Amino acid sequence: MHSKNKARRTPAEQDHIDRVKALPCSVCDAPGPSEAHEPVQGLWFISIALCSDCHRGAKNGLHGQKTMWRIHKLDEWGALNITNRRLAA
Ligand SMILES: [Zn+2]
Ligand SMILES: [Zn+2]
Repeated sequence: MHSKNKARRTPAEQDHIDRVKALPCSVCDAPGPSEAHEPVQGLWFISIALCSDCHRGAKNGLHGQKTMWRIHKLDEWGALNITNRRLAA
């Protein structure tokens, strides 16, 4: 266990995560609620909204073979841009 994981989120961070999770998937557009992928541990303001398959799926997921990411020609930066654009809308 990493003690960093236990750092308490600030109210602003928790609010941001809740808004990210309410979005559709940034890769395949599956309707929310989504999961919040954290590209760098503890940096909640760069969280990316992903469905469970595009996030953790063995074939499609970011933490798997990334097939869906290749189909949509997206990397984490591109998906983050979509998440943030939707939050700003
Ligand atoms: Zn998806
Ligand atoms: Zn993740």
